[in-house]
Amino acid sequence: MFNLILFGPPGAGKGTQSEKLIEKYQLIHLSTGDILRSEIAEGTELGLKAKEVMDLGELVPDEVVIAMIKSKLEANASAKGFIFDGFPRTTAQAEALDALLEELGHPITIMLALEVSESELIKRLLNRGKNSGRPDDQDEAIIQNRINEYQNKTAPIKDYYSLQGKFRAIEGIGSIDDIFNRLCSQIDLIF
Ligand code: AMP
Repeated sequence: MFNLILFGPPGAGKGTQSEKLIEKYQLIHLSTGDILRSEIAEGTELGLKAKEVMDLGELVPDEVVIAMIKSKLEANASAKGFIFDGFPRTTAQAEALDALLEELGHPITIMLALEVSESELIKRLLNRGKNSGRPDDQDEAIIQNRINEYQNKTAPIKDYYSLQGKFRAIEGIGSIDDIFNRLCSQIDLIF
């Protein structure tokens, strides 16, 4: 299995690049944000609870997203590999993911981190908010909250994977294809 964490702050381009990567490498895309939004669209109890937190730009509790990922991994046990997008977002999530993958016998292969300046992120997210219908993309204070959550709780995970020798930084500025090619050149070294 090839297990990739596509890492980066909100607006770094993880979703866009994941779509291209799953097509090229035949991997399964696991985005906790997408799963949570589909729970909201279905009006489930979990969705209703998560929406309150998501609309503020804060993180959903670890146990909620870990359980989601666990069930997706179990449902796709014969996959060629996974792209984790928006997960893990805390050290506790990273540790839980390692434990789940250890059970499968297929650890994380690599973490590729898209690096984009904060001013560019805010610009991209406000722009996306015009079409996405996502309430958390339409208010600059909420966007700033999401970036703060990323800086405080999520960015430290880089060290967790660096210690395992799995962290690679990728410049996340430029055309979609240029960024895609940068990701592919790292992946092709080990795929
Ligand atoms: P995203 O689509 O990845 O930007 O996620 C949108 C929102 O969903 C985030 O701002 C969080 O409120 C929530 N969320 C998504 N993934 C996670 C996660 N791994 N841990 C906690 N909250 C998450």
